[in-house]
Amino acid sequence: MLKPALFFLLLLCLSFSFNTQADNPPPGTDPVLEAQLDQYLAQQSFDADVSVTQIQAILSLMNEQTPIETRVRAQTYLLFNYLYQRKEPETQQVLDDLLAIKQQQPGANALAEIIAAELEVYIQRNQLNEAYLLADSLSELLADARNPRVLYWVHGLLGRLYRIDGQYDKALVHYDAALVALMTTNDERTLTRRSYLNLQIALVHSELQNWQRARQLMEELISEAKQQNQTQILPELYLSLGYVLAGQKDYTAAEAINKQGLEGARQQNNQLLALTFLNNLGSIYIEHKDYPSARQVLTQALTEVLPLNDPDNEQIIRFNLGYIKAIQDDAEQGLAEMQQAFSYYQQKGNKAEIEGYLTWFANAYRELKDYRRLADTLEWQLRLREEIMSEKREKSISDLQTRYDMKAQTQRITILQQQNELQQQLLENKQLQQRITLLFILLMSLAAIMLMQLYRKVRRSNLRLRDLNKQLEYQSIRDPLTGLFNRRAMQEKMAKRHQEPRPESCSLLLLDIDFFKHINDHYGHAAGDAVLVEISKRLTALCQDNELLIRWGGEEFLLVLQRPQQTAIDNLCQTLLRKVSELPVEFEGKTIPVTISGGFINLPFADVPEHQFNWERVLQVADMALYLSKVNGRNQINLVTGLRVPFSEAEPHLQSDLSGAIREQMIHYHTIAG
Ligand code: GH3
Ligand code: MG
Ligand code: MG
Repeated sequence: MLKPALFFLLLLCLSFSFNTQADNPPPGTDPVLEAQLDQYLAQQSFDADVSVTQIQAILSLMNEQTPIETRVRAQTYLLFNYLYQRKEPETQQVLDDLLAIKQQQPGANALAEIIAAELEVYIQRNQLNEAYLLADSLSELLADARNPRVLYWVHGLLGRLYRIDGQYDKALVHYDAALVALMTTNDERTLTRRSYLNLQIALVHSELQNWQRARQLMEELISEAKQQNQTQILPELYLSLGYVLAGQKDYTAAEAINKQGLEGARQQNNQLLALTFLNNLGSIYIEHKDYPSARQVLTQALTEVLPLNDPDNEQIIRFNLGYIKAIQDDAEQGLAEMQQAFSYYQQKGNKAEIEGYLTWFANAYRELKDYRRLADTLEWQLRLREEIMSEKREKSISDLQTRYDMKAQTQRITILQQQNELQQQLLENKQLQQRITLLFILLMSLAAIMLMQLYRKVRRSNLRLRDLNKQLEYQSIRDPLTGLFNRRAMQEKMAKRHQEPRPESCSLLLLDIDFFKHINDHYGHAAGDAVLVEISKRLTALCQDNELLIRWGGEEFLLVLQRPQQTAIDNLCQTLLRKVSELPVEFEGKTIPVTISGGFINLPFADVPEHQFNWERVLQVADMALYLSKVNGRNQINLVTGLRVPFSEAEPHLQSDLSGAIREQMIHYHTIAG
């Protein structure tokens, strides 16, 4: 089993460092103090307490006259010292001080740095939803920021944030912007910082399994590090290159690079890293079926791991050695050794890890031609994968919901503020009108025409404000790209429905474009947007006036239908699948084939009162039906139309296990294929 490289520490150090050019400091900063901060970075001590004393010494030279940007920079460094040492009260204190500076209306540079500092605190505290909320406004602010140090650092941070969330396209955009900011500087650290960014980009590509691009970037990095004599970081670079090469299945190159890394790690006396290289070599030999070599390096690794008291690594090595024994000389004994190491990981309970180990059991059984145990293992693996996928799905749905709620909340606040401002203006206009009337009486004979014009202007501005007000109301329930209703509109509709004494029944059809990520990747994001707009149009054309079409998420739509007859629904589903797929979307000369999948259900469901089974839970069932359409091959709609058993019996399955409910024949359902 190959381990991905652990860069985090190295990267954190590098990302922290950015000195400005002493002879050409950005405008709006104090050149002398900025030079001191540069020096602080260049000579930053590994002893955190020393570091704090140094930065506090610089801060003590500052006062109210010091430019805000320079003060913010120094405070941010102090903040990070506390943050990375996990000194919570001190961190909070410095953060509060920084946030207070926001009141002084600092420029875009300082404001971006303050918000970025706050965002970094959220990341370190693992409050990712709060971090994402800030990230949006931060991206907007960066458009006005000019200081290259701030631009480099903040874009790098946003890149890291989106990488953590797997939003690789966004991460790459920010890393690119950081590179652009870097190009405007030229000092002795520019190269190091560029290496850092290229490494990040290479890592994103390896996470996307773009092995070729990742390899090319890693190789460039290594040759640059050599040119600059940065031998200390070479072994870690070799580790990730080795990972990429193995991903590419170029085992010969992977072997060579791991050997080189091993030598470097030994020279640096870094035992843990050396062990990782030994283990990776072992895995490569096993892939190659060169069992004697594998056994030799792994036995060596075992003697080295024992004094380190590192059970994680020890058990991987024992597992691999067991595998070799099973295949080479003693099947049962080897399998027993694998089993013993495996039980260590089973106790840890990480499903993804357990699933990975099962692959090796399956390989062993296959080699040993033990087909019964092979089948059992594969079945177990399949079950685990399903569990992992559904857990991931549930988590990402609930994350999305939280993020959406937080965003909606801030949007509501902004709208309220804007409405207040509008009312204020309307009031002022009214007072103005009164004054004008008075003046009109006094000066009628002299300035009648001029005043008339002024009066008209005020009226026009009143009308414009009223228009704006209407526009705001419209925007708050519309999606800007497609013009469709948004989630908020649905929530409002459902809240209204809830107040009705006898809400009319309706049905929910949840739709999700197939392989949309591929469309973005292959034809570009703008083409993806065009597909969303076109599909929205086609869906709108199929809706009746009393029905609601909502952009539910990225490429998800929700239809609230008002058609009591099941045959009408079935016909609609059939037409809808056809209308989406029969005519590819045309965009800038490209022809993009599109299909869509869906899940359908009635509300209320099977006459179960809505206070017992509310719309959100009913929609969850539609979502599971949609998921079923995805796993059964896409371009189809699964319809859940009723219950065959009492609700209380089916309820547990309806929470999370639609396939179970179908298997147990608890529900009526059918599929319409495209
Ligand atoms: P599946 O068939 O399983 O639904 O696969 P998929 O690729 O459609 O699903 P996935 O959820 O992996 O990808 C959805 C993608 O939609 C990811 C995201 O970048 C993209 N996306 C979300 N909102 C927008 C948008 O407004 N415009 C564009 N162009 N892409 C978007
Ligand atoms: Mg999709
Ligand atoms: Mg989706």
